[in-house]
Amino acid sequence: MKTKVAVSMEVGKPFEIVEAELDGPKAGEVLVKWKVAGLCHSDLHVSSGDMPSTLPLVVGHEGSGVVEEVGPGVTRVKPGDHIVGSFIPGCGTCSACARGMSNLCNEGWNGTTGLMADGRYPFKLEGGQGAGGMCNLGTFSERAICKEQSVVPVQEWIPFETAALVGCGVTTGYSSTINTAGVKAGDIVVVFGIGGLGANALQAARLAGARYVFAIDSDASKQDVAMKFGATHFFSDPTDAAPVLNELSWGEQADKAIITIGVADAAVTEAAFNLLGKRGVLVLVSMGAMDNYSVSIPGLFLCQLEKSIKGSLFGSANANYDIPNLLKLWDQKHIMLDELITHRFTLDEVNKGYEMMETPGSGLLRGLIIHEDD
Ligand SMILES: [Zn+2]
Ligand SMILES: [Zn+2]
Repeated sequence: MKTKVAVSMEVGKPFEIVEAELDGPKAGEVLVKWKVAGLCHSDLHVSSGDMPSTLPLVVGHEGSGVVEEVGPGVTRVKPGDHIVGSFIPGCGTCSACARGMSNLCNEGWNGTTGLMADGRYPFKLEGGQGAGGMCNLGTFSERAICKEQSVVPVQEWIPFETAALVGCGVTTGYSSTINTAGVKAGDIVVVFGIGGLGANALQAARLAGARYVFAIDSDASKQDVAMKFGATHFFSDPTDAAPVLNELSWGEQADKAIITIGVADAAVTEAAFNLLGKRGVLVLVSMGAMDNYSVSIPGLFLCQLEKSIKGSLFGSANANYDIPNLLKLWDQKHIMLDELITHRFTLDEVNKGYEMMETPGSGLLRGLIIHEDD
């Protein structure tokens, strides 16, 4: 069947909107009609080359939709089910899943190639060139083939726009705070970067009972949204935060620092590290290119103050637990989801959405692509 897609053809170039031929679902696969896709910064890591990927790649790894068809042996979902795409599958049986690390599921190995388990590309572009879907989802496509382990069924009454958000950004931001950092009541938390991830790190810290929540973003226009999502203080420069933190913490500094800016570098990780007190935990959510040595800190303080630095992928979340759990928290009004949505685009406008994401002061917090019905 034909489907319109946004595809990354070449590093350094904007996404192209083209028509592709889509395969049908084979064993263990499902055909999904995507309804809503979220614009996440990681799609730009594909086109910028920061995340080495096999191009062409149909981008988009956050979204919600409906299962239209299932291949042989599929048991997790059936046609008509509403689903959220999980950008890391949770197979449940690999070594990582068995150890409670389903965010590192072995089935996620082909997220940047888009190859299916049998080694084929699900999309064919003009001229017969094969293309995969980013994270085996490819949500910037009207329809896509996904592994059944990559889709999480959700209640049908939940709006597609709300559900789409928990496929990546919300879950990553929230869970990096709760799961990876282990924020608990009374902690002082500092969040660097107030975008689609950082806003959710803020509301997670607030929900967990943090004593103070500092938000830091070089774009001063983010202050209002930071305060709305749970920050108690906002600074556009970490050097301004330091004396205030010192006073409010009675000289003990922060317990947790979470970095969610677009691309992290050594300066920001050192600034975050320096705001931490004894046994403080620095969580690095932001990605950077292979040659970006984004952590450079004095080892002396790492050992003498027992600080630690942790990487976080998908917020150390378990998709099959955390995705439904976040929707339950939203239903009970413990977290805000719909308030994250500031802009809606058509698939044809995808590059415009990313230009806004990259423009300070644009007001974009989470942009959505609303796929047309057919
Ligand atoms: Zn993402
Ligand atoms: Zn697994």
